[in-house]
Amino acid sequence: MKITEYIDEVRGLTAQARAEGRRVALVPTMGYLHEGHLSLVRAARESVSGVGAARESISGVGAEADNRVFVVMSIFVNPLQFGPQEDFEKYPRDLARDQLMAASAGVDLLFVPSVEEMYPSGPSLTLIQVAEVSEGLCGAARPGHFTGVATVVAKLLLICQPDEAFFGQKDYQQLMVIRQMAMDLCIPTRIVSVPILREKDGLAMSSRNVYLSPEYRLQAPVLYEALCRGADAVLSGETDYDTICALVRDCIAGSAAQVEYVEIRDREDWKRPERLHQKVVILLAARLGETRLIDNILVGDRGERI
Ligand code: AMP
Repeated sequence: MKITEYIDEVRGLTAQARAEGRRVALVPTMGYLHEGHLSLVRAARESVSGVGAARESISGVGAEADNRVFVVMSIFVNPLQFGPQEDFEKYPRDLARDQLMAASAGVDLLFVPSVEEMYPSGPSLTLIQVAEVSEGLCGAARPGHFTGVATVVAKLLLICQPDEAFFGQKDYQQLMVIRQMAMDLCIPTRIVSVPILREKDGLAMSSRNVYLSPEYRLQAPVLYEALCRGADAVLSGETDYDTICALVRDCIAGSAAQVEYVEIRDREDWKRPERLHQKVVILLAARLGETRLIDNILVGDRGERI
């Protein structure tokens, strides 16, 4: 695995990979890696070895299947997406550990730019604002957050020019924002979503889980339990928006978690559904002490929770 801080080097290495006939996959992160991040790397490898497997049967070339993808992971704690009162300074960082984890998951190039490399003339004067999808939910609680995300992701996509970029369903609104941006700006990269990886007790993996005290950590799985209850009620035929939101809130009410929002959206077009159906996503944000956690659940179109 190569590691670089420099945009020019990323451009050179990705161009070389493309010239060798490899597909380029990008996995943007803020580091402090966990298994959830690594599942994005595996998805990147698997999606391309799927392509490879089809070719193998024709060409008989098997051994290099894994070489057909060049996986770039970026680690950048992007100041532009943090509000003034948020945790930019204290966001957890451990590059030495991240390097080991990224290498073992099969990352080919780790891009770890400095703030100066990404924003050489200070705060970006060009900002990408994705209307509507960025509004409400996390966008309401974190003004400017999604503009920061969309701007930095656009920069990363322009730097790497990947065939595919991988994002976690964990940050569902972010995924919708990036999909909308890619569509509106005719960015040819395929945006791929990867399911949420959870701890054994159901808590969605997150770099911010390290902030939780042992007591709050014990209580944190209530968020997923509440989402499961909501999803089950939709699957059982409940169609009323407020009833489901109240059910989820009630489930959390006995715990130490303070709900910031519980909302439901159509999982494809992000509209607030009048009557619930089985292609919705239930989303929430809650605080346990100082720690803000988000989670969501897809109510599957074949009747399963995802
Ligand atoms: P972050 O480092 O928190 O910005 O996350 C980087 C990427 O990893 C984003 O696309 C996240 O949605 C994704 N991600 C974070 N946590 C998980 C998880 N538990 N399961 C799957 N993907 C995740």
